[in-house]
Amino acid sequence: MPTSKPLDRSTKLITGASLAALTLGACGVSSVAAHEDLTDIELTSRSATCVDYVDTYSASATDVQNRLDYGAAIEISAGRGRCTITSNAVPNHDFNATGRFANPFRTQDQSYTLTATPTAAARPTPLSLMYDNAVFLNGVKLDLMAAGCFGVGDGRIGCFDMSTPYRYDPMGPGSNFGADEHNAHTQPDGTYHYHGNPMALFDQTNPNEPSPVIGFAADGFPIFGSFIDDNGTIRAAEPSYRLRSGTRTGGPGGTYDGTFIDDWEFVAGSGDLDACNGMVQDGVYGYVVTQTYPHVLGCFTGTPDASFRKRRP
Ligand SMILES: [Zn+2]
Repeated sequence: MPTSKPLDRSTKLITGASLAALTLGACGVSSVAAHEDLTDIELTSRSATCVDYVDTYSASATDVQNRLDYGAAIEISAGRGRCTITSNAVPNHDFNATGRFANPFRTQDQSYTLTATPTAAARPTPLSLMYDNAVFLNGVKLDLMAAGCFGVGDGRIGCFDMSTPYRYDPMGPGSNFGADEHNAHTQPDGTYHYHGNPMALFDQTNPNEPSPVIGFAADGFPIFGSFIDDNGTIRAAEPSYRLRSGTRTGGPGGTYDGTFIDDWEFVAGSGDLDACNGMVQDGVYGYVVTQTYPHVLGCFTGTPDASFRKRRP
């Protein structure tokens, strides 16, 4: 929980289902405000239905190192069985206190549409550089796959063939991807995006309740924070990936330490989550944020919507 800004944690009376989804009342915003202020809000709703989040939202955020202030604008709308999350890609929290961004932050026009009734596909879709993975309820996207592989250029960019081995994990040890305190950094065009736990969106330590929904993947399934209810015990969910044992054959050599996504192997049943980092909670399937690979999702259980398709850099 960021503590840099005072926050009125009192909640307003909820008058409509569309507002029931979020903890409201931050920063003394009047109850007749045209939109809800999400600045530094920790989410609380566990509704997996994107329609329940329909509203317009705003927030203020500062690029700390550059001392630049931004206003976030987010709109969540719904229709014809789908939800659309449109934003200017400004987070609802200060950022870049500790990052080493290769490119300056820039606002964007982002819009993602996803089904309100996700279903599992016959087989999962692997993650690739073709799709953004997800969008969080603060309007900032998740884009897990780095375009950098060992032995390709400077290792940071230019590795677009997913079959190329030794793809770097920006969350790995010794990463030179310059992520900030929110596990996020900027793309070449300045787009801010997360590579792992977005940190500010849910209670990271000792919650009394299982974590809320914090966003939606491109296939429409919800993304939950890390904490699950294990028969009355609230604890962080464990992924079912583990580091391979031994040393890498070829490539960079060395011990499997998570520097590369190839360093991890899926061992079914070894954790709580499936290969896509999802599980069923209260009858609802969703992805769960984890502290280690694959961080948020390892594949798409459903079918990603075309609106998440990336422009090729
Ligand atoms: Zn990145």
